Amino acid sequence: MLQKIEGIVIRTSDYGETNKVVTIYTREKGKLAFMARGAKKPNSRLSSVTQPFTHGSFLVQSGSGLGTLQQGEMMTSMRHIREDLLMSAHAAYMAELLDKSTEEKKPNPYLYELFEQCLHYLNEGYDAEVITAIFEMKMLQVIGLHPELSGCAHCGSREGRFAFSIRENGFLCHRCFEVDPYLLPLSQAAIKLLRLFYFFDLKRLGDIKVKEETKKELRTAISLYYDEYSGIYLKSRRFLDQMERMQSFLVNKEQEED
Ligand SMILES: [Zn+2]
Repeated sequence: MLQKIEGIVIRTSDYGETNKVVTIYTREKGKLAFMARGAKKPNSRLSSVTQPFTHGSFLVQSGSGLGTLQQGEMMTSMRHIREDLLMSAHAAYMAELLDKSTEEKKPNPYLYELFEQCLHYLNEGYDAEVITAIFEMKMLQVIGLHPELSGCAHCGSREGRFAFSIRENGFLCHRCFEVDPYLLPLSQAAIKLLRLFYFFDLKRLGDIKVKEETKKELRTAISLYYDEYSGIYLKSRRFLDQMERMQSFLVNKEQEED
């Protein structure tokens, strides 16, 4: 059956001399893989639409086995992402997280919108670390994790100072700090952002500026939480961490030289 679908390329692998197997996260049908014959040849009409993170409209032939990609029309090339190593690393991480958290042929329009929007923001030059943190916070419910971030996970209070407790699965108010000896102290700015990223409507993202030290706190809290509960280990996360360390090393060096 020949069908038209909208989707984003999340993974590609070589198949033989000239073919690629392309995994596309689609709006209509969730994650699907297709054989793209000849896509490895530079002059192939499939070569540009099978680039990672391409957002396009695809004509596919699906059957019982692996479907084939017949044609593709680019809707957004996500070129800025591909031209920047750090942005690509962020996009690759989001794509791998999406890939590892979903099964094939399970439509999830919410997740499609989320991923598409995050890539668009990234491509438009929004702070990559912020976008990735938002994506991770919004992916929690997709994975089936529901931290208590609206109030204290122990007493339910919404007032007071808060810290993050991995063990208690959410925030703890200052009255309940002693419940968890491994409590992660966070600035109230970081607390606000974790809550905001988890609950807010991504379409309403305005100009968002987050201080470096707050971003570090978000990174630590989100990583600890994922490590503890998600059961997902991603190579692209390690690569991204290495890139970020390298970047902050270079920034520090520049500052020393000035
Ligand atoms: Zn409390």
